[in-house]
Amino acid sequence: MKREIFLTARFEISKEMVKNIKKMISGKFSYAKSFVILNGITNEEGDNVLSYLRTIGDFEITNDFKYYEDEELMEFDFFYCTGQIKPDTGIRFIDFEFEMNGNASFDYTNYCPKCKEGLKQISPFVVKGLSKKYAAKKFVNPFWAYWIVSSEFMEKIQQHNISGVEFWELLNYKGEASKTNFQMKPTRILQNVLDLKYIKFSDEDCNCINHRVCIPDTTVRLHKEAEASLLDFNELYEHNSSKLTGMYIISKKLLKIFIEEGIRPHWDIDIDPVEFV
Ligand SMILES: [Zn+2]
Repeated sequence: MKREIFLTARFEISKEMVKNIKKMISGKFSYAKSFVILNGITNEEGDNVLSYLRTIGDFEITNDFKYYEDEELMEFDFFYCTGQIKPDTGIRFIDFEFEMNGNASFDYTNYCPKCKEGLKQISPFVVKGLSKKYAAKKFVNPFWAYWIVSSEFMEKIQQHNISGVEFWELLNYKGEASKTNFQMKPTRILQNVLDLKYIKFSDEDCNCINHRVCIPDTTVRLHKEAEASLLDFNELYEHNSSKLTGMYIISKKLLKIFIEEGIRPHWDIDIDPVEFV
């Protein structure tokens, strides 16, 4: 396991502190004034840095979590994948409209204007211009909800016969399909596979027909009986409270393709192993 720590110090980080901390860790260290991020460090390195900082002054830990390294992930068969760590919202990849019937790519029948859930994509997205910078990316994840892949990455996935996936075109305003980028979509949505015993329902949840759940960050539990029905790419019927659309469960086979293509778990894409209970 590796560890990631975010903290806010009640003192300013000096050059000497930076030097000392760098000597203590093998991972990544970044800071701005009094805000510190340690990532890819061992548990022990984390403890050492924290005790060192305690000798200097007060600080508040805003995030402290452990995550699996690639080799450790390979011991699991399926993964909950929420997509890119920092979705690229630099451009409006998708011309998104929440207003009723504002976007012809969606069916608004079950849409709830209060919680903004229930949109169902029924036809390809019409995207605003793809700058070369974004079009060149293998994987981008607008709104943490939609997966957009480059044509090369799509071909890789097709060569490996990944099940449960289809690729939809992305259109421009003239209705012409992009040759460089496609939407990667699950072919079906699975109901009753998430074990709701372990799920906390949000207090602010809306009473509409759309089902929102709060999925814990670290563990996702699915029913044991569901394992046999999982494909390489799956969408769960339930939604995370912070997400507009599906929660994706991917197989080890698909995860390996991501890793081979240089898309790194934790750093580029958020991956949590699935437990079957
Ligand atoms: Zn609602």
